[in-house]
Amino acid sequence: MDADGLSKSSLRPTVKRSLERALAGRPLDRDEIIELLQSHGPEVEALRAAADEVRRRSVGDAVHLRGVIEFSNYCRRNCLYCGLRAGNGDLERYRIDPDEIVDIAGRAGKLGYRTIVLQSGEDVTYDADTLVWVVRRIKGDLDAAVTIAVGDRPRDEYKAWREAGADRYLLKHETADPELFSRLRPGTALAERVEHLRWLKELGYQVGSGNMIGLPGQTIASIADDLLLLRELDVEMAGIGPFIPNDQTPLADRPGGSLDQTLITLATARLVLPFAHLPATTATGSIDPRGRQKALSFGANVIMPNVTPGRYRQDYRIYPNKICLTEEPENCRPCVEAIITSLGRTVGRDYGHSPKAGFGPGRVEPTA
Ligand code: SAH
Ligand code: SF4
Repeated sequence: MDADGLSKSSLRPTVKRSLERALAGRPLDRDEIIELLQSHGPEVEALRAAADEVRRRSVGDAVHLRGVIEFSNYCRRNCLYCGLRAGNGDLERYRIDPDEIVDIAGRAGKLGYRTIVLQSGEDVTYDADTLVWVVRRIKGDLDAAVTIAVGDRPRDEYKAWREAGADRYLLKHETADPELFSRLRPGTALAERVEHLRWLKELGYQVGSGNMIGLPGQTIASIADDLLLLRELDVEMAGIGPFIPNDQTPLADRPGGSLDQTLITLATARLVLPFAHLPATTATGSIDPRGRQKALSFGANVIMPNVTPGRYRQDYRIYPNKICLTEEPENCRPCVEAIITSLGRTVGRDYGHSPKAGFGPGRVEPTA
């Protein structure tokens, strides 16, 4: 990194020491993480530069693209923050047929995507067998990795999808504060979510988790706990983005998470989880026109463009003002590539598997 970055006299000595420790590959403790999360003034640039350096050394310059298919906006849950919540009667609901999901994946494959993400609300209409069929078809037709993100399901369903060929699973822990978790996600508990994440690991998935920044009642210490939980779970990916209030939810009047705190958390996450994939999230791009570019320079190395056909996009309204709502997948791809190359980075051409041992060629097979 820029040698001056750490020699600025205006850095608190303890912040300077933490950044030096992280650059030397030593794990940060909770107090150090809390302090980094409170970086201000010139400390923010020093943190960014350290995260960018660790990102470059551990995961390189390639930015991996994941094409996301939002195949159903029905949801049985009532998460207070999310527009897809069952209690939102103002949303036009849709389900995409399994055949059409496979077609959309094929269209994404033609655009060069080497990872297809199947995401939805918690919609059990798509039962285990239906998703087994979809995963098998996509894996059979395309040279691509498949990620599933359909929320909480029984362990045997996760196992069936893994055996059908699914490579990764995304299940954010959302917040590591157990009380806040249960308040925001009625009828669910953090301990269950963590148990599911452990199952997914045991089954041999590359596991993605993550959390929101700026949730009502969230503290800096609890964000530090988010990062510690991600480290303890040894996740392969961590999605970190701002909470964005949605008018159609009970949290409509709450302030959203700030771009600054999101970027500071992302950079700290890069120091805590050097080898994890960290997306420049769509939510970060939705609160600032250059949000994703900024995230890429604060430690991120993944972008997850939407490949859902335009006619469904408007209704996958988790939060308002989501970017690219009127686009078709064909337009998103060049736009995202331009973002990456304008930063002097390269577009990942392989699957973008976890760089950790055991994934990619010669990977471990699923265990029971
Ligand atoms: N139903 C699945 C996947 C879809 S939700 C699940 O919950 O895991 C995908 C992600 O959207 C959630 O993990 C959450 O972090 C994010 N999200 C929901 N509401 C949001 C909001 N108001 N602002 C920002 N992100 C939100
Ligand atoms: Fe459903 Fe996921 Fe939204 Fe919760 S966050 S309401 S589980 S779509």
